[in-house]
Amino acid sequence: MIRGVAVAVAVLTAAVRIATADPGAVFAVGTATAAPGQKSSGVLAVPAGSDAGLDIPVTVVHGARPGPVLALVAGAHGTEYASIIAVEKLIEKLDPAEVSGTVILVPLLNTNSFEQKVPHVNPVDGKNMNRFYPGKSDGTQTERALAAVTREVVERCDDLIDFHGGDLDEDLRPYSYWLKTGNAEQSAASRRMALAFGLGTIVIAADRPTDPGASRYLDSTAATRGKPALTVEAGRAGTVAPEDVAALVNGTLSVMRLLKMLPGSPTPVEHPVWIESIQTVTSDQTGIFYPAVSRGEYVAEGMRIGSVTDYAGRTVFEARAPKAGVVLYVCAVPSMKKGDTIATVGVVVGAPPSP
Ligand SMILES: [Zn+2]
Repeated sequence: MIRGVAVAVAVLTAAVRIATADPGAVFAVGTATAAPGQKSSGVLAVPAGSDAGLDIPVTVVHGARPGPVLALVAGAHGTEYASIIAVEKLIEKLDPAEVSGTVILVPLLNTNSFEQKVPHVNPVDGKNMNRFYPGKSDGTQTERALAAVTREVVERCDDLIDFHGGDLDEDLRPYSYWLKTGNAEQSAASRRMALAFGLGTIVIAADRPTDPGASRYLDSTAATRGKPALTVEAGRAGTVAPEDVAALVNGTLSVMRLLKMLPGSPTPVEHPVWIESIQTVTSDQTGIFYPAVSRGEYVAEGMRIGSVTDYAGRTVFEARAPKAGVVLYVCAVPSMKKGDTIATVGVVVGAPPSP
């Protein structure tokens, strides 16, 4: 009997990951310090180095009951507004009295991008704040900030969601990335999160970095440290559409139900479109871009997806779909520089993939 019990306990331990939050203790990230049953907002201070310091806003929702630690991070790209506003809504909405476990919310990582309305990069050092993980404590502002996020957010959570969307110049349809890793259990957990989040298009990301010291993206920084992670994308071209914000807020609440952090059952998407690879179409020429397709449209291989003219109106480049698939996003503005992205086309998988 004893032996049987020991086996049962071992199986249970393998199936349910151990929560790292001690429900009796204060949980602090930077200056956000919450006792059980409390919500606290503050900053994660990145000290000045070779350039200026940065205060990253952070809120901790420390549930009254024990459970996992979930990290929600938005605004690496500070002009992907719908995703930032969604995490702001979650700060308001999450009630620590109802939450089991702890939620770390970082609504706006790249404050300089947001305040100066500069897309894609941190204007302080020109670096993309989702390409330099796990960061460097003696690097430029982006690298120091990402080192702080790795240490104070990623290493202290059990599960992570990174929020993105179409940037100022991107007309994007909502989708998520499922991180398919070499670890079967972690991969299956990430897959359940992607389904529970509910976005109807899921990109299978099987090619993320595997070295924790060169993890590059936030989701792979979590994944290479053994934590199930998900990246979600909704919103487009500077807008804050209610349906995009709602999809991100409701998706997060559904994942929290999956993780037993909120009462009730998750509401998973039933028949998602699975994407096996993303084809990026770039411009051969600088000039004026005219799209021929919209976000979410299906294209055949070789179909024209847009053209570029010179400033006298002569067509200098025609962009064509390299493969058949669905347009995940297409450039939303006429400005086009040689080498910039015109569109991304997601190649659809024939049958649903197994975990
Ligand atoms: Zn982004």
